[in-house]
Amino acid sequence: MAPSILSKQSPIIIVGAGCFGLSSALYLAQAGYVGITVYDKQPYDENAYSTTDGADAASADFNKVMRMSYGEEIEYQRLAWDAIQIWNVWNKQIQSSPAQDLPRGLEPSDRVWNNCGFLRMSTDGQLSQFEQTTLRNITREGLRSTQFVVGDPEDEKRVPFYFKDGEWERKSDPFLRKLQGKSLAGVFDTTAGFVDASKACTWAMHLCRQLGVSFVLGEESGQVSSFIRSPGGHTTLGIRTADGKEHRSELLILAAGPWTPYLFPSIAPLMETTAGSVVYFQLPPQSEAPYLWERFSPENFPVYAYGGWTKGLGIGGFPRTEDGVVKIGYRGAKYTNYEDVADPMTGARHRISVPKTRYWPEPSEPAVTKQAVEAIKSVVREALPELAELGIAGCRNCWYTDSLDTSFVIDRVPGDEGMMVCSGGSGHGFKFLPVLGREVVKIIEKPGEKNAIARLWQWRTRSSGPRNGLEQGEAGPRNWKKQEMATKSDWTFDDNKAKL
Ligand SMILES: Cc1cc2nc3c(=O)[nH]c(=O)nc-3n(C[C@H](O)[C@H](O)[C@H](O)COP(=O)(O)OP(=O)(O)OC[C@H]3O[C@@H](n4cnc5c(N)ncnc54)[C@H](O)[C@@H]3O)c2cc1C
Repeated sequence: MAPSILSKQSPIIIVGAGCFGLSSALYLAQAGYVGITVYDKQPYDENAYSTTDGADAASADFNKVMRMSYGEEIEYQRLAWDAIQIWNVWNKQIQSSPAQDLPRGLEPSDRVWNNCGFLRMSTDGQLSQFEQTTLRNITREGLRSTQFVVGDPEDEKRVPFYFKDGEWERKSDPFLRKLQGKSLAGVFDTTAGFVDASKACTWAMHLCRQLGVSFVLGEESGQVSSFIRSPGGHTTLGIRTADGKEHRSELLILAAGPWTPYLFPSIAPLMETTAGSVVYFQLPPQSEAPYLWERFSPENFPVYAYGGWTKGLGIGGFPRTEDGVVKIGYRGAKYTNYEDVADPMTGARHRISVPKTRYWPEPSEPAVTKQAVEAIKSVVREALPELAELGIAGCRNCWYTDSLDTSFVIDRVPGDEGMMVCSGGSGHGFKFLPVLGREVVKIIEKPGEKNAIARLWQWRTRSSGPRNGLEQGEAGPRNWKKQEMATKSDWTFDDNKAKL
């Protein structure tokens, strides 16, 4: 059945105020839709998406990589380039706003995006195929001058015109490999950097509110417990929230991040909930260690992928935050957590991967796997010995949704004209906060005219062959229950102590 046409007054419900839900709400409101309500179980008005105050979504974080390097996936490269232009505008808008006009959690001195650059460094002296394809596609868009291949004589001739006061030396070789006589190869992308995810969500929510979007937040009134279905059960007509109320919609957009399969288990063949691991190092107070604060500042230290983007142990990291936190992530294995789940639509039982976050399904001590900690420690020992002296101060499992081909899933649910899924961020969705909703509106308004992006994100199946690990299911090696968790003694770099 063809999806019904919405009017600008149609009630639209968005479940989830992470970056997928916020961006959808923002662009729908900009397109003139006046009946948009976003429901989220988390009290973002109170915690301003701050993880230290209990925010627990993939989109709540200190920093996420902003890059346009996407190998052969030129649609994402173009989308990222568009996003960068809006990230720049958002920075200017925040900085020119009077403090009293900004929402809680933002000040005029804040920047939601930092263009500190991104070094994708190889440890074997070679540029990977991914890098070569990326360079080709960036050249194709006329942007080659924004990229610097380390060791390339032509690119290094341009260095003095672009970098001043030793910035190139610091950012192209943050691990001091030349000094140690080690190979140094890689690409430094001057268009890239990191975004402050929590502050960016706070800003996007503020923009939505200015355009009339309503937010219902919190465990009772904001938490969706089930869906209202048409008598035949084929069309979604709205939601029920934990406070027992019903809310009707003409279109429901399910943007519940890692909880999407939990709320809609039939999507499991297309999308799996998985966890990436991050650890934090806390620098000593600036007055005690000014050298470390200087060394790891975004002015001196880039976002990096150690060993390359598609090679190595899957380790990447960031410059320090304003609070002196240095975050390092591990993507070598994305863990799953299989549980029995009752479908809130049909009541049928499904065995699917669901999040197991710091606060959900119940509060727990933060813990990451020994595999992740050991991989990060090996890179820190080799490349960042200053951090080894500090030891790991904290950790987090960040849960998200992987689609079977790492492209997002943004489409109407086949056979249900009342519901659309907007998820499947696959570990790279955040950077698109400023533009994702633009595509969502096109997908809603022009279902018959799918552009390249709508085709990438459409409902799909792949019955055979590798499916980004989804084919492993519960029996696979990434199952959370099979992992050994790191203990606090694993957080130290004192090997003798760790063996005790
Ligand atoms: C470790 C890690 C590293 C990453 N690194 C990067 C990176 O460097 N660059 C990048 O671009 N992206 C990165 N990503 C990916 C990015 O964070 C995600 O793609 C993106 O944040 C997903 O946003 P979302 O809106 O889909 O989900 P979320 O941000 O998780 O939001 C989902 C929302 O739905 C709400 N919700 C869930 N259930 C209900 C319910 N029943 N009722 C009401 N509300 C509900 C939740 O409370 C939550 O607020 C990373 C992700 C992780 C985990």
